[in-house]
Parts: sequence; structure tokens; C-alpha cells
Amino acid sequence: MFITGRRLFDGRAPEVRENWGVEVDAGRIVDVGPAPGAGADVVDLGDVTLLPGLVDVHQHLVFDASDDPVGHLRASDDAALLEQMAGAAQRALAVGITTIQDLGDRGYLALTLRDRFRHGDEVGPRIVASGPPLTVTGGHCCTFFTADGVDADPAVLDQLAGSGTTISMTGAILPGTAPPIAAMRQRLGAIRANHAALFRAGARIVCSSDAGVTATKPHDVLPHGVSGFLSAIGMTSAQALVATTAVAAEVCGVAAVAGTLEPGKDADILAVAGDPLADITAIHDVVAVYARGRQAVGPT
Ligand SMILES: [Zn+2]
Repeated sequence: MFITGRRLFDGRAPEVRENWGVEVDAGRIVDVGPAPGAGADVVDLGDVTLLPGLVDVHQHLVFDASDDPVGHLRASDDAALLEQMAGAAQRALAVGITTIQDLGDRGYLALTLRDRFRHGDEVGPRIVASGPPLTVTGGHCCTFFTADGVDADPAVLDQLAGSGTTISMTGAILPGTAPPIAAMRQRLGAIRANHAALFRAGARIVCSSDAGVTATKPHDVLPHGVSGFLSAIGMTSAQALVATTAVAAEVCGVAAVAGTLEPGKDADILAVAGDPLADITAIHDVVAVYARGRQAVGPT
């Protein structure tokens, strides 16, 4: 199968290739170029840009992005929770998130779901899972905000930037909403200014979502981080796309199989209408999604 469209951005080369496509065989990319191999079925998606599938390095599939995710989690048995998690993963996949790194589940259910998508008939995103978190009672997410200030020491920013560490900022949030934590809302401007300063200092930054933990962060929120957060801290469209594909795949340890459109990798492909390099909001106009070569969204 040769999947093609007007433009292709492979996640590595800075330029967009005109009228290139991706040759897919048995779920893998076998070629990326202007012409299909002999005898290949051609899927021409028209005026789209083909991109690597997005990678969200920080989600919680067990949380339901409601006003009380922890209460709902406690009230669900494992069977119901697993189906809810599958629904959350499908919601992410529908907007082009083909890899989810799950940072905290219950009973290793995210690994169960990982194996189900990997080996079963159901098309699903690749899941990289940590299993249950190690935490004190009442610990983990959203409890570590204090009333202290957010003044950043420039020397610390430089040290972070020079450390080679990749910093995952959970900046994806539904537009028009605000974080539910008052202390964070009050300091949002200063926090964002720190993020922008860190980027200017040369830090390696990816945007993630922490999806599930609040109603402002559903599991398909990551593209808003690409078009909103990363643009706001000063990334170009190309930088924002690379951060959310190639770099994020490295962060998850799956760069050998995901993050770019290159031969040998899994065929995780997002096609969006128009040109997100020219207008990053095009990232929201999803035309087709392929996960490991299997179509999740697209023409029937
Ligand atoms: Zn989290």
C-alpha cells in the first residue's frame, strides 16, 4: 500500500516533500518517496500533509478526565476500568496520537491494554506503560503545588538547558479553559514565561498532556499543546511537530519504531488537511490516521 498526499513532513528533514508518499507493508514503512513500488495499491488522500503519528509522553489512561477522576477510579472494577481505558486510548488515536506513554495505572492494566492492541484485532495506539506508580498515600499528581513563588533562577535554567535532559511540559490543555488549581492559575503567566525562557536557553522540550487528571485534559488534548502551548513558548511549527513526534518518541524509548516517517519504522501516520507547517492549527483537521499500518481514521 502506498499512502500519499500533497505534502509529506517526515519529522526529521526540515523541508516538506511535495507529492511524496509512504509505502507500507505488513505494518512497517518500507519506503518514503515520490513513487509507489510496482503493483502497490495507492491511497491518495489529496490535499493533506502526511506526518508521523503524534507521541504523548505523559497520560493516565485510568483517569477519566472528569471532575473526580480518582473517585471514579476507586469505584470501577478492573474489567470496567480496562474498557474505559480502551475508550480513552481510542479517543487519543482518533486525533493522531499513535503512541501513548502511560505514567501510572492500576494493576498493570495499561500493559494489558498494550498487549491487546499489539496482538488483537482492535486497532489501537502503541502504549508504553510504567504500571502502578510508587507514591505515598495521597501523593502523585497535582498535589505538589505550593503557595511558593515561581521566580526562576536564570542560572538554573541554563543548567537545565545544558544538561541534555529532555523536559516534558504538560502544557496541553483545552483552549478557553484554565488549570483547576488556583495557585497555578494565578501563576500561569509567570510559569509560561519560565517555559519560554527555558526554550530560549536551548533546553530540549517536549509537550505532553497529563491527560485524564482533569476535565480540561481529555485524552485527545495533545494537538492543542502543539498549536497552543508550543507556539506560545516560541517554537516554530516545524519545531513543535518535531518535538511531538521524533523527540517525544526518543523520550519514550521507541525511536527505533516510531516518531518519524522512515523505512524500517512502524507505519504510524497522521494525515491532516492543509499544511501545518504554514498554519499549525491544521493539526486539528484530521483526515486519516494509521497505527502500525492499520487504518484507524480515514476514507472507507
Ligand atoms: Zn501525571
